[in-house]
Amino acid sequence: MAVAPRRVTILGATGSVGMSTLEVIAAQPDAYVVEAVTANANAAKLARLARACGARLAVIAGQEHYRDLKEALAGSGIEAAAGSEAVAEAAERPADLVVAAIVGAAGLVPTHTAIAAGTPVALANKECLVSAGEVFVATARARGVAILPVDSEHNAIFQILDGRRTDEVERIIITASGGPFRDWTRTAMAAATPAQALRHPNWSMGPKITVDSATMMNKGLELIEAHYLFGASNEQLEVVVHPQSIVHGMVAFRDGALLAAMGPPDMRAPIAHCLAWPRRGQAAVGGLDLSALGGLTFEQPDAERFPALALALSALAAGGGATNILSAANEVAVAAFLAGRIGFLQIAEIVEETIARAVAEVSMASPANIDDALALDRWGRRSAADIVENGRARTARKGDGA
Ligand code: NAD
Ligand code: MG
Repeated sequence: MAVAPRRVTILGATGSVGMSTLEVIAAQPDAYVVEAVTANANAAKLARLARACGARLAVIAGQEHYRDLKEALAGSGIEAAAGSEAVAEAAERPADLVVAAIVGAAGLVPTHTAIAAGTPVALANKECLVSAGEVFVATARARGVAILPVDSEHNAIFQILDGRRTDEVERIIITASGGPFRDWTRTAMAAATPAQALRHPNWSMGPKITVDSATMMNKGLELIEAHYLFGASNEQLEVVVHPQSIVHGMVAFRDGALLAAMGPPDMRAPIAHCLAWPRRGQAAVGGLDLSALGGLTFEQPDAERFPALALALSALAAGGGATNILSAANEVAVAAFLAGRIGFLQIAEIVEETIARAVAEVSMASPANIDDALALDRWGRRSAADIVENGRARTARKGDGA
């Protein structure tokens, strides 16, 4: 019996995950139809992608790009819209799955809107869970909708757990490539340029997450993401550095069994898994040639050289308000680093200082709803921007050196 094609909306279609999603869909034209695609500012690219996938609607977040989008879509029959509210409306349209691939807190409202509308979400936009994890989990539970992890580590763990409860689990292990500075000294990292931080050894991704991989803040965000996705306690969560990026996630069960999920470092694999779930769809990438891999190695992360990891863990222990501030400050600090305004090591310092200010000045309680989360996020951004501006972050940490 033929299966009806799935209707999919892609938020952040012009980005790295968005385009990989469109590639997976293009390879299986009978399996999927695209309802809506959205982007921030690149109207020409959005229009090209919308035409190629035959979307019914294309939405650009920047109002000022509406005319360009409209003109680029002329004669295609594809509806055009602009503005943040229109992005959220796109997320609300009936669909079988919304792929949440916006970067940062900009994705909070549209992603939450999709879940509140009762549509399952394939979540790449991990900042949603870091900024407002309890809100997302509560809405998904209330609406009975699935949040499917696109993030490769969480997708691997989701597949291993296969619906099992975390009370059968001893440890959930997230692997980290270690990023481009895995074996750099702090002295070398202090002088690292944006171009060096953007050169990831294994993965090709958008700029923000690539810098997050270099600081290892990405693993910190992923620990928080895992806490909310799987209901895992902080004690159950672990990071192990695995430079080959072949094993994406592992689960150690109470009975001593350790299960690992492997695959090539290619986001099309977890994306294809989410698109087809709960069925198993077509392979989107070639399989692994095990004998060609040579070897798989695992090592402890270095907490001294990568303080972002401990920062994220202590924010997770402190609660949802602290992780919200962590994410907001990190976005501001990463943007400042990419703009050449601060050094690489200052990213974690600015995050740390913003959290310290927040603890003294605002409530660290978990946001109760998306508006609360956005208000806290704005506070975190303002404070982090102020620290960037006034250079109040310490420029050197104790114990730095070769
Ligand atoms: P990217 O920068 O390549 O793309 C981001 C997308 O979001 C673009 O389509 C952009 O137009 C859109 N966007 C940005 N700001 C917006 C705004 N204010 N309003 C509306 N849309 C906006 O990022 P990416 O690498 O694809 O990452 C997307 C998300 O997926 C991030 O949360 C990232 O952490 C996560 N993720 C990415 C990868 C990867 O391989 N790239 C892997 C795992 C998780
Ligand atoms: Mg990941």
